[in-house]
Amino acid sequence: MSEWRVPLSEPDYGVEEEAAVTRVLRSKWLSMGPEVQSFEKEFAEFLGVKHAVGVSSGTAALHLSYLALGLGPEDEIIQPAINFVAAANMSVAVGATPVFADIISLHEPTICPAEVERKVTPRTNAVVVMHYGGYLCRISDISEICRRHSLPLIEDACHAVGAHYRDSDQESPYRMKAGNLGDIGCFSFFSNKNLATGEGGMAVTNRDDLAERLRFLRSHGMTTLSWDRHQGDAATYDVMLHGFNYRFDEIRAALGRTQLKKLERNNQLRKQLVSLYRRELAALPGWIVPFDDAAGYGSYHLMVAVAPDEQVRGRVMKRLKEVGIQTSMHYPCLSDLKAFRRFAACDLRNSCSFSRRAITLPLYPTMTASQVEEVCSAIFSVAAQDELTEVATGSPRGDSR
Ligand SMILES: *Cc1c(COP(=O)(O)O)cnc(C)c1O
Repeated sequence: MSEWRVPLSEPDYGVEEEAAVTRVLRSKWLSMGPEVQSFEKEFAEFLGVKHAVGVSSGTAALHLSYLALGLGPEDEIIQPAINFVAAANMSVAVGATPVFADIISLHEPTICPAEVERKVTPRTNAVVVMHYGGYLCRISDISEICRRHSLPLIEDACHAVGAHYRDSDQESPYRMKAGNLGDIGCFSFFSNKNLATGEGGMAVTNRDDLAERLRFLRSHGMTTLSWDRHQGDAATYDVMLHGFNYRFDEIRAALGRTQLKKLERNNQLRKQLVSLYRRELAALPGWIVPFDDAAGYGSYHLMVAVAPDEQVRGRVMKRLKEVGIQTSMHYPCLSDLKAFRRFAACDLRNSCSFSRRAITLPLYPTMTASQVEEVCSAIFSVAAQDELTEVATGSPRGDSR
C-alpha cells in the first residue's frame, strides 16, 4: 500500500470481505442479482427507508435523483459552496444551474438556512444539502424552507452513513437517519467512505414514484433485468424511458453487506478517535475544530480542523507530510473552481475562508490512539516553532482573521 506512516484513511477489510468476494465468484453471477437485492434490502432496513436503489457511484445516485425529480434546463439547484464537486457537476449535467449558498460558519461548515431562503428565486426547483464530515446539517430548518416553497430536498449523505438525530420531536427513530430526512438521499461507497466497496452508491427514498423512476433510469429504462431473464421470469423487455447503465454489481454488493455489519461499531471507533483529537487540539490557540456541540450522532467521516490562517495551515500540512502523515482538504470552495466560475457568487465569505484554512487529518476505524497523538504532536511542533519565530521577530506570522 502507501508509504505513509499514517494514511488519511484506510478501509477496515478482513476475512469477512474475502469470504464475501469468494462467495460471489463461486456463484458465477456477477451483476445485479441476489447480492444487490439483499444489500438494498438490508441498507433500507438500516435506514428505515422504504426504497434503496443500488447504483455504480454516489455521483450516479445524485444524477439519477435530479432526473427522477425532473430537474433540467431552466432549473436552479441551491446547494452548499463547500462540497465535493459531484452535486454541482450533476446539476450542470442535467442542464440546470448550481446556485451556491454559503456555509453557516467555520464552526459549522454546512449549508446556511438563511442563505438558502435568500437564494430562492422563481427558477429554484430543488435544494441539496450535505452533512459535512458526517455531522448533520440544519436539516429541520431547511426542510421547513423547502416545504414553504414546495421544493424537493436532496441529501448528499455521502459522508453520513449511520449519522442520526436524537430530537425528541421526530416522529420515529428511523426518520432520524441521514439520507432519510429529505425526498431522496444519496450515498457513496467509494474506497475512503465509512462503508467502502471501491466504487458504488445508493439512492434512497420513501416515495414509490421516485423509486420506480430511479430503478428505470439506473438500467436503460428497461422493464426487466438480465437476472429476471436468467431466472426464466421474463423473456424480453420494453424500454419505458431513456436511462443509463448505472447498475451495481454482485461483488461490491457482497462487500457492502459485510461493511454494513461493521458500520455502527466502526463509526463508534471513529467517534472515540475524534474525541481524543478534540481533547488534544483544544490546547492549540486560534484553531477551530468544527461541530464541537453537534446535535445527534455523527458518522465521524472526516477529522477536520481549521487553522488560524492559510499560512499556518500550509506549514502544518508540510510538516505532517515530512513526517509521513497524510492530510487533505475538504474542499476548495466550488465557485473558485475554473469550470464553476460562471456560477460564482460574491457573498460566500465563510466558504472561502473555510477552504483556505481547513485541514483534514487522518481518521479511520483501525487507527490507534497513539497515531492520533503522533499527528497532534506534529501539529504542536509547528505551533511551537511559530511562537519562537514570533518572539524572535516581534510579530505574529499571519493574522488570525
Ligand atoms: C464521495 C462523495 C461524492 C461522490 O461519490 P462517488 O461515489 O465518488 O461518485 C459526492 N458527495 C460527497 C460529499 C462525497 O464525499
